[in-house]
Amino acid sequence: MPTSTPQAPLIMVGGGHAHLVALRQWIANGQRAPAGSLLVNAQPYAWYSGMLPGLLAGRFTAAQCSIELAPLAAVCGMQLICDELLALDAHNQAILLASGKRMGFARLSLNSGALPVTDFDTDGSLPLVGAKPFPGIVQQWRTWQAQPPAHLAILGGGPAGVELALALRLSLPQTTVSLFCRHALLISHPLRLARLARARLGKANVKLHEKLPIERISDGQLYSDGHAVAQPDAVVLATGAAAADWQATSGLECDAQGFIRIDAQLRSSHPCIFAAGDCASLPDTPHAGVYAVRQGPVLAHNLLAAAQGNLQHYQPQPRALALLACGDGRALLSYGALATQGRLAGQLKDWLDLRFMRAHRLPAQGD
Ligand SMILES: Cc1cc2nc3c(=O)[nH]c(=O)nc-3n(C[C@H](O)[C@H](O)[C@H](O)COP(=O)(O)OP(=O)(O)OC[C@H]3O[C@@H](n4cnc5c(N)ncnc54)[C@H](O)[C@@H]3O)c2cc1C
Repeated sequence: MPTSTPQAPLIMVGGGHAHLVALRQWIANGQRAPAGSLLVNAQPYAWYSGMLPGLLAGRFTAAQCSIELAPLAAVCGMQLICDELLALDAHNQAILLASGKRMGFARLSLNSGALPVTDFDTDGSLPLVGAKPFPGIVQQWRTWQAQPPAHLAILGGGPAGVELALALRLSLPQTTVSLFCRHALLISHPLRLARLARARLGKANVKLHEKLPIERISDGQLYSDGHAVAQPDAVVLATGAAAADWQATSGLECDAQGFIRIDAQLRSSHPCIFAAGDCASLPDTPHAGVYAVRQGPVLAHNLLAAAQGNLQHYQPQPRALALLACGDGRALLSYGALATQGRLAGQLKDWLDLRFMRAHRLPAQGD
């Protein structure tokens, strides 16, 4: 891809959590991006993942869970371009967008998230609905509300799978919901949290299948170990994080899964290219929104300070609070070895989520 004109001083790709925090920090500090800087995002809104299960459970509206990016970008002196990055040529400092536009950059920041893992074969006989990107699942959920499916299968035994199963059972009461886990449920969380989650799922009539990896979808059926195990109407993928294909061909150094390797200053193998959140790979930093959020302030500083040196370091928090929405206002909570559940945990989750939204949208957008 040849270097193209115009050349932007800074392009930020993806309205993810880290970029949202970075833009808001510039506004709070009265800082602006260099004139001519661009924010590229696939849609006009940034979605807040913590509230998506609440939206699908019918507790929040889409407007409460998303933030309009154009006004935020404008206050930072940037223009929002609703487009999708298709290819990056790190060596020539250029990107190609889905619209066909090619743009050069002096500095690039990537916060474009990840895709669901699809490590099974499929003949295309069942609709697959990724838990991300969020606009897709929200649109599908609206269709399901008008015309409820008889049976939905969710793949993924992590927090997102649990939250989606509970939310969909509540908002689609006629629908049978099955949750398939490759390993034991919530395997990377305390055993007590998994016990509490099993009880909640049981009470909600979610059909839980642990240690049952789905290897193939054919003729409308899910197969594990060569046997048909379910015949759902659609499959929701809450299977964790997979890297977008363009990352591996970008010329940036990536890890074995294709995520962009970064250092503690959030810089990639090419010092003019920064990355944060799920698209990036840094030791001791899981792919989760709470880590992307904490990278935001460091990114905000480093993107403006890069020319002078003087960069800040990001230090991943040793443990993070996990709050899993049960859909009914309650939540499951774990922190280190501690695990509990209840209405108080739900209130804490709502308070933290709504506080985040208030802090990151412009006052004119309301709440
Ligand atoms: C149902 C569910 C619930 C979750 N709940 C939590 C939670 O409570 N706490 C937690 O810590 N984590 C949670 N997660 C995980 C969390 O969603 C991710 O870790 C987090 O969103 C990653 O944030 P990010 O900043 O990397 O980017 P994202 O929030 O994924 O945003 C990426 C943005 O980039 C845009 N984009 C993507 N590709 C391109 C492209 N090629 N060109 C232009 N734009 C692009 C997307 O449209 C999107 O706006 C949850 C995940 C799911 C599925």
